[in-house]
Amino acid sequence: MKELLAKLVEASGIPGAEDSVREVIKKELQGHVGEMFTDNLGNLITKKIGTLGKPTVMFAAHMDEVGLMVKYIDEKGFIKFAKVGGVVDQPLLSQRVKIHTEKGSIVGIIGAKPPHLMKEEERKKIVEFEDMFIDVGTTSKEDAEKLGVRIGNPITFERGLVELRNKLVTGKALDDRAGCAILIETMKRLPKTEATVYAVFTVQEEIGLRGATVSAFKLNPNLAIALDITSAGDYPGIKEFESPIKIGHGPAIKIVDGRKESLGGGLVAHPKVRELLIKAAEKEEIPYQLEVMEGGTTDATAIQLSREGIPAGVISIPTRYAHSPVEVISLEDAENAVKICLNAVQLAPRFFGL
Ligand SMILES: [Zn+2]
Repeated sequence: MKELLAKLVEASGIPGAEDSVREVIKKELQGHVGEMFTDNLGNLITKKIGTLGKPTVMFAAHMDEVGLMVKYIDEKGFIKFAKVGGVVDQPLLSQRVKIHTEKGSIVGIIGAKPPHLMKEEERKKIVEFEDMFIDVGTTSKEDAEKLGVRIGNPITFERGLVELRNKLVTGKALDDRAGCAILIETMKRLPKTEATVYAVFTVQEEIGLRGATVSAFKLNPNLAIALDITSAGDYPGIKEFESPIKIGHGPAIKIVDGRKESLGGGLVAHPKVRELLIKAAEKEEIPYQLEVMEGGTTDATAIQLSREGIPAGVISIPTRYAHSPVEVISLEDAENAVKICLNAVQLAPRFFGL
């Protein structure tokens, strides 16, 4: 799991530019699935046909990560950027980033004034992203362009996977490469089952659940399960009631999610899918947590509204510092999520016998 996660985190894919992530997944699943193809938007759809062929179960994990994009190159070769997805300003400063050009990727840094040159009041202020820029070491616009830098180039954090204590790992894009890794492992380990299983690696989740929308329409499954991250609240600065989810205490099974104020705009997990996931965990005494997440949603929200409605639920991986370059998850939670997925496929015909 750790090696697989490292490969996935190393790959780069802001929404709409997921190609290198898709290539890693394709290579991993070659020979482990019956069918594998890429659709018009770039979703990677893989399939294993079951002995009964029903119900059809769609798993979804998104390949894209939040990031930045080249917006402007100034005459000295400094690069201004736009945000793609829910990036907050604070973690951006002083990061090392990669600009992905046609000629390969270039390392740059998001520079800032040193304390020596700051006025007293400047030191207390948060620098806003409009005032930030990327320095790749070039001395002119032409110099930057010669390297391949162009308006619209994707930019990602330059941050590989590192292991912390207690089976925790940290890196960029664990949202949602953790989900991708769990789904790859599930497909690899899946024995002959009655149900037919689709594993869909979706595009453009972070900017509006786009890949999930079109792939659910195409596949029209009997039920769907998204694999994504949720915010753990087990560290300083967050009150326990704000997010009681704890890292290393098992994957979370979603009850609801959505906007912070009123939980609108998100998912109400279908009771049958929710129960299926709970039973799938309890079957082997796999630890799990129940999740009411305010402020965010997943691919399952788009899938449930496809066609005439598709029963959908979510398995979430508790994550610290989401959407930053130093996201943290537990390898044990990821392993347990694979087990829940495998059991859910076994139990699906009992819940969705057609
Ligand atoms: Zn996500």
